[in-house]
Amino acid sequence: MDRRTYRRLDQCAADSLWSEHGSAHGQLPRTGRRQQAIRDVLCRLPPEPYSQLRQQAGRFQWYVPDEHVLGQVYPLPATYDPSTNGTPAPHARLLYLSPTLEHHDAPVVVTIVAHELAHIILDHDLYDLDGRQSAHQESEVRAAMRMWGFQVDADRADMILFCQVLQAAGLAHPRTGVT
Ligand SMILES: [Zn+2]
Repeated sequence: MDRRTYRRLDQCAADSLWSEHGSAHGQLPRTGRRQQAIRDVLCRLPPEPYSQLRQQAGRFQWYVPDEHVLGQVYPLPATYDPSTNGTPAPHARLLYLSPTLEHHDAPVVVTIVAHELAHIILDHDLYDLDGRQSAHQESEVRAAMRMWGFQVDADRADMILFCQVLQAAGLAHPRTGVT
């Protein structure tokens, strides 16, 4: 099990990857499972993927709305393609984390955050994908998460979600679920 932390959150804030206030528009309360999972993943990413993520800092935006936000016109800041001297990128990348994650157990939330950040770190194509390319990218994400020390979280998340499916189907007593 690798739960080593490599840096503090203020380092991530200094690197423009996150701020204590959540996103620039303050959608997210200071406490919450998504906030905690984002801290956890950013602080546990090994140095190499973290450095790749730093290079992507201006090229994606978090979108982590509070569950009380029922509708919103979100002023998405432009993202830039560094290879074209500051020209706006052809499309913006938004990393959305659903408010329903606040009702999930920590390993599930950490797994989702690490998975989506992996797409950013691996600089995946997210536009006009065909099924084969998409499946290939998903398998790259799973391999990266194993390498970066998030497999334990992913395994626990699978178990939790599987138990929830069984419970919903009335096939398991809630107390038998993994917590
Ligand atoms: Zn994915």
